[in-house]
Parts: sequence; structure tokens; C-alpha cells
Amino acid sequence: MPLTPEQEDEIAQQRATPRQTLRAVSEGMEAHLYTAHPVLDHGFVRVIDYMGDDAAIVQAARVSYGAGTRHVSNDEGLIRYLMRHWHSTPFEMCEVKLHVKLPVFVARQWIRHRTANVNEYSARYSILDREFYIPDPSALAAQSTVNNQGRGEVLGPEESARVLEILKGDAARAYDHYEEMISTEGQQGLARELARMNLPANIYTQWYWKTDLHNLFHFLRLRADTHAQYEIRVYAEEIGRLVADWVPLAWKAFLDYRVGGATLSAAALDCLRRMLNGEEVTQETSGLSKREWREFREVVYPPQR
Ligand SMILES: Cc1cc2nc3c(=O)[nH]c(=O)nc-3n(C[C@H](O)[C@H](O)[C@H](O)COP(=O)(O)OP(=O)(O)OC[C@H]3O[C@@H](n4cnc5c(N)ncnc54)[C@H](O)[C@@H]3O)c2cc1C
Repeated sequence: MPLTPEQEDEIAQQRATPRQTLRAVSEGMEAHLYTAHPVLDHGFVRVIDYMGDDAAIVQAARVSYGAGTRHVSNDEGLIRYLMRHWHSTPFEMCEVKLHVKLPVFVARQWIRHRTANVNEYSARYSILDREFYIPDPSALAAQSTVNNQGRGEVLGPEESARVLEILKGDAARAYDHYEEMISTEGQQGLARELARMNLPANIYTQWYWKTDLHNLFHFLRLRADTHAQYEIRVYAEEIGRLVADWVPLAWKAFLDYRVGGATLSAAALDCLRRMLNGEEVTQETSGLSKREWREFREVVYPPQR
């Protein structure tokens, strides 16, 4: 995970100068502040700043619901209640700012999450580093035969060696040309904003990404899910580990209700009730489409992973 020497200096300085604060702090998150957690071959996630903790969620809820929350005796019970009933704004009281280094094709998926504030490295102003995501052979797989939007069987050793050679060769050649184009030795030199256009989508970029806990949970539910592409999923999983230490009670509720829980349609719920009453329900008698029936069965009888 190559941090630049400047970034390493900055981290060392930030970690060496702790300050006293009257703000609420999360001990779990304090331990992560500024530390870069490696992801993929050159990427990382590091916490730059955060606001709030589990108590901040509870505090906000008690302001809005006042006496109505008194019957919920403890913080964990209230957080679980809020998550169960989709009360979003108390979770929005917590915020996190991350520094992320990621391949451009991952950034393109990530940026679709509009409910965040982003500041990206400027390749108009600065020269991009010669750093490309080259997958581990275990992540090189053939097109899935059952899912058009995904990968299936891992490539054999010969096939993956061939693919890796192409990826490395293309990256090196494109970067050499990038350097040649911007060079001012014996030529005017092309502007950086134009020269970058020949660079492949596996080159790394960096950004600061700030969002609140409600929208972060939404991001994590979509991107830490098995349907998400591996290369963004590993970032989401790393962020999930940080969130678990930051707001342990909210994280537990999120795992329980969002990640481990399921939403059933009225028709699917009706099937479940009929099954609990001893009726043998089939796809034909369920009123569900084949796909709905398959997904319903996966909820009731989850496949062993
Ligand atoms: C597995 C997977 C596959 C995907 N495949 C594709 C694909 O093939 N093609 C493609 O284009 N995208 C694809 N996406 C991206 C997806 O459609 C969403 O754009 C992305 O996940 C961001 O979700 P979001 O809009 O809910 O998040 P955010 O932008 O963070 O928004 C969060 C919520 O805020 C609300 N919101 C935000 N902005 C607006 C707005 N302007 N108007 C109304 N409500 C708003 C919505 O309720 C939204 O759910 C895929 C995503 C996943 C996870």
C-alpha cells in the first residue's frame, strides 16, 4: 500500500499531536484515526475525521421523540428500535470523513452514491502516479454463466498468466505514453488534463469522501453485499470493520435488521403463513413468479455458504 512519503509524514505528525477535546469521542474510532488500512494492491482507506458515536444517535432520538422514548430503557434498545422502524435522521447525526485510494473503475461505481461529499485528486493539476490495480490470480475469473453482471469460475493458471501479462503490458505502455506526452523535453508538452485520457481504468485515484452514518449504511448494504463487484466490496468490508469499532451498537443493529434481515412482499408473506399452517405451497400455488419464488425460498431456506 504505497503511501507517499509526504502522506506518511502527515500521518505521523497527526498521530503524534493528540489534543484534548470536550467533544464526544468513540474510543474504537480514535484508535483508527489517520491509520491507512490497505485494500487491493495499492489502495487504502483511512479515517480523517468523524463526528458522533452511539450516544449521539440516542441523544438525537430523545430530542425528537422526547417522553416517547422513555419506555425504551437502554441505548441499545432504542438504537434497535430506530433501525427496525427505519428512523433515519438520528443516524445522520454521525458523520465520517475518509481518505480513500482506489482504482478509477471502482471510483466510477462508488461515485454513484450521491449522498456524500467528495473531493478527488486533480489529474488536471497533478501527475498521476504509475500505479495500476493488477488483480491477484484468485480474483481473475471467467464471465458467470448464471449472472450476466458478474464473474464465475476462477481462471486456470495459464489463462490467468496470459491475462496478467496483457494487463501489466497495457498499463506500462499507456503510462509510458502519458509521460512522453506531458514531457517538456524538446517539445511543448501536452496539458495533463488531456494527456490522462489514454490511461486505463485500473489506474489509482484518491479522494476524501464524507458521508453520514445513515447513508454509509445504505452504501455498505449495497456494496458489501455478495452481488457487488469484488473490487468495491473489499473497500466496503474494510469500512464496515471501522464502523463496527466506531458505533458498535448501531453496527450490531444494522447487521441484524439490514444485512441479516429480509423484506417480504405481501404475497411472499402470505406463502410463509400458509406454510406455517402446514400447507404445502409450490411455485404454481404461491402466486409468485419463478424468480420471486426462488428468492423467497432462498430467504426461508438460505443456501449453505
Ligand atoms: C450490485 C449493483 C449493481 C448496479 N448496477 C448498475 C448498472 O448496471 N447501471 C447503473 O447505472 N447503475 C448500477 N448500479 C448503481 C445503482 O443503481 C445506484 O446508482 C447506486 O447503488 C447508488 O445508490 P443510491 O442512488 O440509492 O445511493 P445515493 O445516491 O447515496 O442515494 C441514497 C438515496 O437517496 C435518495 N436520492 C439520492 N439522490 C436522489 C435524487 N436525485 N432523487 C431522488 N432520490 C434521491 C434515494 O432514495 C437513494 O436511494 C448498481 C448498484 C449495485 C449495488
